[in-house]
Amino acid sequence: MTNDNVQMWEKLDIDMKPHAMLMTALGPMYQEIYLAQENRPEGMGFYDMVVGDIHGIRVRELHEHSKTGGKVVATYCVFVPEEIVWAAGGIPVGLCAGTQFSIPIAESVLPRNTCALIKSSFGFKLGRICPYVQVSDLIVGETTCDGKKKMFEILGLHHQVYVMEVPNKKTPASRQLWLDEVNDFKDVIEDLTGNKVTAENLKEAIDNVNRRRQALKRLYHLRKVRPVPISGKDALLVTQVSFYDDVKRNTEMINKLCDELDQRVKAGGGVAPADAKRILVSGSPIAIPNWKLHHIIESAGAVVVGEESCTGTRFFSDLVESSGDGLDAQIKAIADRYMNIHCACFTPNEERLDDIVRMAKEYQVDGVVHYHLQFCHTYATEAVQVEKRLEEEGIPLLRIETDYGDEDTGQIKNRVDAFLEMI
Ligand code: SF4
Ligand code: SF4
Repeated sequence: MTNDNVQMWEKLDIDMKPHAMLMTALGPMYQEIYLAQENRPEGMGFYDMVVGDIHGIRVRELHEHSKTGGKVVATYCVFVPEEIVWAAGGIPVGLCAGTQFSIPIAESVLPRNTCALIKSSFGFKLGRICPYVQVSDLIVGETTCDGKKKMFEILGLHHQVYVMEVPNKKTPASRQLWLDEVNDFKDVIEDLTGNKVTAENLKEAIDNVNRRRQALKRLYHLRKVRPVPISGKDALLVTQVSFYDDVKRNTEMINKLCDELDQRVKAGGGVAPADAKRILVSGSPIAIPNWKLHHIIESAGAVVVGEESCTGTRFFSDLVESSGDGLDAQIKAIADRYMNIHCACFTPNEERLDDIVRMAKEYQVDGVVHYHLQFCHTYATEAVQVEKRLEEEGIPLLRIETDYGDEDTGQIKNRVDAFLEMI
């Protein structure tokens, strides 16, 4: 903990005591889950450095941006079109919301039977523990589930919040509603930043974000190889960090890591034996530092080779296909791209089932672990459809419902062990 960091946190009105406890807990946890892995790619050194100073380096960049009048826009969902924020000279930052630490604080206000992701994010603001929240000028929420929708109303009492309406269906009328929402979001961001979104700056933003998407697609493509050249834990971390790192630097670091993995693959090297059981994880987003499920699966000798989730393929698999024919066409291309995200908030959501089956085949998986957070009704209920579809396809499935606590770790370990033995 450097003095510079401490001074910055004080300026951001961080509650220093709980914050210090959080930082102290993170180090040993990262050591056990990440640094103790064998045969890690050298390219993961960058991510170790980022996590090692998780509330330092990047927060400082955001703080410097703020000091010169720049705006920081915080988000919780992959539906918020980050291209528009970049185009207007703002910096979008995906908030973490993946730790048990902030949950008791949230439970002093929110109902306990609310999903961990909602409680964790709310607790970070209420407890003034997260410098990314504190440095942000605006939090952008969305109406993807009832718990979040109502939480954003209360969050609005503590921070500036704007909520985008995400429709529940993909009909022509719903698509028009979403296009209008994206246009309104552009107006909100222009007001916030004082900068106009133009065809030129939006094209640059679209290209930059697409390049990061392509880099992540490249990383995930490498995970299809047997033996797999990178652990699921490391690949998950790369995606998690992409939510808040600078888009150009992030793209460069992912591609550098992929260059190394290419060499590994050419040399036939892998991070796990070629016959290790290959698992696809599908379901709710797995926000940093929630590494619990991946750690359990990989400690049992299997390897996670893909994530069908918003901290996985839903984040990057589709590009914005912009022909560059003016601002309206670009906004429409952005709206179309985001409506292609197959979140369980949609009905029907057959496309997600198709994605899981396709990925299970492409990544040569031995089984799928469907993961959802306790009290997440959309993913929990959609798991019924996932189970039926995978049974028809002959793909083994294990359903896990959990939260961020440790109480059920032993029970999940036993279930994962039994599943791996069975497949
Ligand atoms: S699961 Fe749905 S609501 Fe959650 S981040 Fe993904 S798109 Fe947003
Ligand atoms: S995990 Fe489920 S309940 Fe929690 S915020 Fe996401 S969609 Fe809502």
